[in-house]
Amino acid sequence: MVWSNIRWKAFTFADEPAGSTSNPHGVQGLENCHFLKTVEDAQSIRSNIGENVEAACLPTTSDEERRRLLSFVISGGGPTGVEFAAELFDFLNEDLVRSFPKILRNEISVHVIQSRGHILNTYDEALSKYAEAQLAHDQVEVLTNSRVKEVRPDKIIFTQKNENGETVTKEIPHGFCLWSTGVGKLAR
Ligand SMILES: Cc1cc2nc3c(=O)[nH]c(=O)nc-3n(C[C@H](O)[C@H](O)[C@H](O)COP(=O)(O)OP(=O)(O)OC[C@H]3O[C@@H](n4cnc5c(N)ncnc54)[C@H](O)[C@@H]3O)c2cc1C
Repeated sequence: MVWSNIRWKAFTFADEPAGSTSNPHGVQGLENCHFLKTVEDAQSIRSNIGENVEAACLPTTSDEERRRLLSFVISGGGPTGVEFAAELFDFLNEDLVRSFPKILRNEISVHVIQSRGHILNTYDEALSKYAEAQLAHDQVEVLTNSRVKEVRPDKIIFTQKNENGETVTKEIPHGFCLWSTGVGKLAR
């Protein structure tokens, strides 16, 4: 009995390895997100960023639309989301603005939406706080106790628990969303 359970589990892991897919957590609109699984994902991220910055530079783009195009949202504040947010911030602010001098740094925004009370919540608390302080220094907005509910092509809908424990629904206009809320089993 024990042996057959072990064999069944080994088969299950081999058949549906954790990490093979991103975890959707039942959220609607993931077709409007980027993932970090394949080379194609990386290429698509790079093109999306380039296209947004080019469109943001056009004289015909309104101020509101430019801010939306330059609003980058990372859903999930685990190691994947946090490292991506920091790298993206550096890329946008150190590399891209040199090629696109018309882009004003203060129009670029990077947001991390994290459902738990801290980012990197599976690590030591000191590490979480250090990472939060570094991101705050870079003006990356970290929204904790916040859960993404829906990703629309132009905005993210999320709920946030306030200090009184009440849940309020909020939204952020975006031109780019990364889905980094952890790993799931292989989709069939
Ligand atoms: C059983 C198990 C044991 C492991 N042991 C180890 C180990 O010992 N050492 C090691 O290095 N690695 C280990 N790993 C791997 C490690 O956990 C992962 O590689 C790592 O956590 C992946 O980081 P991530 O950022 O992709 O996802 P996660 O760490 O899962 O982070 C995703 C974050 O997204 C948040 N989130 C989820 N849904 C939403 C939403 N709708 N809106 C906003 N936020 C959301 C979650 O709260 C979470 O904090 C283990 C994994 C598993 C499954």
